[in-house]
Formats: sequence, structure tokens, C-alpha cells
Amino acid sequence: MSESVPTAIIQEIRYPPIINSGVQLFVLRDDLIHPFLNGNKWRKLKYNIPLIKENHSTLVITFGGAWSNHLVATAAAGKMYGFPSIGIVRGDEAVSNDALQFAQECGMTLHFISREKYRERNIPEFQWQLEKELRQIHPELLEEKFVYWLPEGGANQAALKGCEEIPLAISIDTNFICCACGTGSTLAGIARGMKKHQAAIGIPVLNAETYFNESLIHWEAPLSQIELHHQFTFGGYAKKNKLLTDFCEHFSKHTTIPVEPVYTGKMFYGLTQLIQDGHFPQGSVITAIHTGGIFDFNQEFSRRLPSG
Ligand SMILES: *Cc1c(COP(=O)(O)O)cnc(C)c1O
Repeated sequence: MSESVPTAIIQEIRYPPIINSGVQLFVLRDDLIHPFLNGNKWRKLKYNIPLIKENHSTLVITFGGAWSNHLVATAAAGKMYGFPSIGIVRGDEAVSNDALQFAQECGMTLHFISREKYRERNIPEFQWQLEKELRQIHPELLEEKFVYWLPEGGANQAALKGCEEIPLAISIDTNFICCACGTGSTLAGIARGMKKHQAAIGIPVLNAETYFNESLIHWEAPLSQIELHHQFTFGGYAKKNKLLTDFCEHFSKHTTIPVEPVYTGKMFYGLTQLIQDGHFPQGSVITAIHTGGIFDFNQEFSRRLPSG
């Protein structure tokens, strides 16, 4: 997979509210890797794709909410690398939106399940049962297929390996590496791939302190090198208010870096606050990871992954 090494783009951020704060802020533009297969979802799929392609008759079954960036990325990867997929979508009713429509256009088959059932998504017995059901509904899709179960958000060992490469993609000498946290697996991968003198800063986008601590332990992240700042969730996952949407607009306008309120908007909001509060020592170099989540579904698909 020669096209699997995206060119890392690092930019210095000159955002007026923090310009004279005595720290330098950079961003790793993983959002620019590809229009649809980008950000941390690309990092997580990178080492899954060769495992999927190892077996020619593989069908990927994966999980996500109705606006899941992971479903978008997996569908796009299926189209680019030629593997069929089924997306199990949380929510009883078959809804449609730009993200799900895009996934279907890429060849992903969607299957909706209730929120109660969705909670069991990682339990093997549930997966066997689901596979049996899917074999009845879509016999042509599953015929002679080996099923590759990809967890929600793509989070498995291969994904962690991909996220461990994030610190290596940062070509400057940085003290802190910061990312938004949904499950914490990207943060865990970053922390595992860091140098000893570096620290990882996580900005959770939902209220789940215990869950994040467990997640970091589960992924064997070096806890002493990680800080989590829980005060920037704006009430929960995908919750937002005018303060946050105004910030996203202001930040995007003054830096020309697009952010959205679900993930990267909350991260840059939190990071701006922490910098203004003097949280980081003078002279610190901080690198934020732009984990993606910005899609223009009207854009043409065909751009290949950059190489080198
Ligand atoms: C999925 C996602 C995250 C969260 O990643 P985790 O590894 O689940 O913490 C952050 N940012 C964006 C843009 C995402 O799509």
C-alpha cells in the first residue's frame, strides 16, 4: 500500500486571542489527507485495510450513529480499496442524511438496529445472531464471505497502531500533543507513540470521566503522560450552544482552519481556554491534531490518497 503514507502537514496557528500568550500552537492537518477518508478515522483504518484485504472474500461489518465519521470513512475505504461493507446504524428507524447517503453511494449496505440492541454490539453472541439475521436479509452479500468485525469508531489493536504514528508525523519538536476524545482510543494511541518528554492532552467531547480512564487503561496508555480536561464538553456528545458555534466560526475565520462543534471545535475551544489560563509553561510548543470530521458531500470523490 504505497499510498498509505499521507504527507503530514503542520501549520502554525496564529489565532488572535492567544497570539501573545508565550506558547506556540501548531496543528497537524490530518483533515486534509483525503476528502472522505481522513483524520483519525484514516489513521485507525490504515492497518485494518491490509488485514481486510488479506482475504479476498471479506465483508466488513461495522457500527456507528447516524452521523458517524467512522461509517463515512469505512464506506470510502471500501470504495477505494474494493471491499464490501455493512454499516450497522444505531436507531430503530431507517433515517437518511448526507453522511448515510454518501456511505450508501460508496457501496455500504445499511442496517438499522434499536438503541438497546446497539449497546450489545461488542458481545460475540450478539454478533453471531446479527450475522445470522443479515444472512437471511442479504443472502447475496454474505454468501461465501468471511466477516471482518470492525468495532465502532474503528477502535481495535490495528487502529491503535495507526494512531501511534501520529506523534511521528509531527515534524517539529513539540512538548504537548492535543486531541479531541470520543472514546479515548486516539489519545491512547498518541500517548503510546510519544517520546518520554512529551505529554498528551485530551479534550473529551462527552461527560464520561470513568469511561475515559477505563479506556486509557484498556489500551495500555502511559497514564503519567496524559492529562484529560473534562470541562469543555458543553453538556454532552454533539451538544452545543451559541458560545461554541460562535467560537467555531471565529476560529475558522481567523485561522482559515475549518472546525465543527462536535469534535475539533470543542478541542480548540478548550485549548484556547487552557492557554489563556496559563496552563502551559511559557515557551511550550503545543501541537493539536485536526482529527477530521469536515465533509463536503457534494465534492467529487475521486482524489487518491497522497503518497510520500
Ligand atoms: C471519531 C472522532 C474523534 C474521536 O476519536 P476517539 O478515538 O474515539 O476518541 C475525534 N475527532 C473526530 C473528528 C472524530 O471523527
